[in-house]
Amino acid sequence: MAMLKNEDPEVWRAIQEETKRQENTIDLIASENICSLAVQEAQGSSMTNKYAEGYSGRRWYAGCGYVDSVETLAVERAKQIFGAEHANVQPHAGSQANMAVCFSILKPGDRILGMDLSHGGHLTHGFKKNFSGMLYEVFHYGVKKETGYIDYDELRATALKVKPKLIIAGASAYPRILDFPKFKKIADEVGAYFMADIAHIAGLIAGDAHPNPVPYADFVTSTTHKTMRGPRGGLILCKEKYAKQVDSVVFPGIQGGPFMHAIAAKAVAFKEAMTDEFKKCQQQTVKNAQAMAQEFLKRKYTIVSGGTDNHLFLVDLRSKGIAGKDAQMLLETVDIILNRNTIPFDERGTNEPSGIRIGTPTVTSRGMKENDVVKIADCIDKALSNPNDNKIKEDVRKTVKGLCTAHPLYR
Ligand SMILES: *Cc1c(COP(=O)(O)O)cnc(C)c1O
Repeated sequence: MAMLKNEDPEVWRAIQEETKRQENTIDLIASENICSLAVQEAQGSSMTNKYAEGYSGRRWYAGCGYVDSVETLAVERAKQIFGAEHANVQPHAGSQANMAVCFSILKPGDRILGMDLSHGGHLTHGFKKNFSGMLYEVFHYGVKKETGYIDYDELRATALKVKPKLIIAGASAYPRILDFPKFKKIADEVGAYFMADIAHIAGLIAGDAHPNPVPYADFVTSTTHKTMRGPRGGLILCKEKYAKQVDSVVFPGIQGGPFMHAIAAKAVAFKEAMTDEFKKCQQQTVKNAQAMAQEFLKRKYTIVSGGTDNHLFLVDLRSKGIAGKDAQMLLETVDIILNRNTIPFDERGTNEPSGIRIGTPTVTSRGMKENDVVKIADCIDKALSNPNDNKIKEDVRKTVKGLCTAHPLYR
């Protein structure tokens, strides 16, 4: 970054420090990952200069030949990976993808049924300060208190009672397989559209580590930067019969010019996602999450739903006498980065959650295996059990440093 260093040393330095921070800490934030330097090169390219309102072959501006070719690559690769009839790669992020689908089928006041935020759902599934909560009449389903698994009976009963126009499957903090055929059956029974939001699990699906909703859902939305390992961005997949209405909501409905540099980077990430190496990494991500959850269980921690089927799990810290926020802050002092999270039926409320969310995408992308993540679990347990012991915290920091050095960000 010689140009940047010379022209704007303040921004250059912050970027250097951020890269170093990523190198030297263990990132367990379930929604984060590392995208390749090839993806970063595409995103940092001249394509950021180009206005390309419209779609490949149907642009408002001249000079779109090359950006057309990358958008076509991104679209075709996305369709191939997920077996979809239609793909729109223009949404700036996952939230815009969800907004586009909602606007394409719903009118203000229509009813939607999504997962309760405090049980793992996302802001765009009906939070009152989100567009979805402001515009629609929102109903929620959640997990069973005894099992931590989605209560499909409650979901069906609510759907039969309120007759939503849209049912949303998908979550940001749910550790179990989503039963897409079951969602589809309930949606059909009540005449609702079915949207699957795979923001968190898209990479797992591409890597055959989670079932694919595309055969069942009318619409599938995603981010491209979580398990998918691409640039920050959004993606919509849908049946051909909805293609036109979805495309016209994305542009000109809610966005102007697409981020062609980001779309180029999405194309690169999608190519990577078709490799055996990517698939192995996704399957290892699940194995690592399971090995780590198992280690916490062995150490008498409470894990929501008793384990995980995917890339993340939730540790209920109520029995440990430490709040989620305090655990997050304490772990940051030993270079372990994660986030506090509500656990289902959390009596402390969303501002003071009782748990932490642990995800394995980033450490797995760095090449860590079961034995490494078990070491990380040991580090977390030691730090949480000895919050005031500086000697132990120093030892933990050393172990973290060793793991980071042995597993560089880019290999
Ligand atoms: C992350 C996430 C989104 C939105 O992603 P942004 O890119 O942050 O807008 C949507 N749905 C779910 C389930 C998510 O986890």
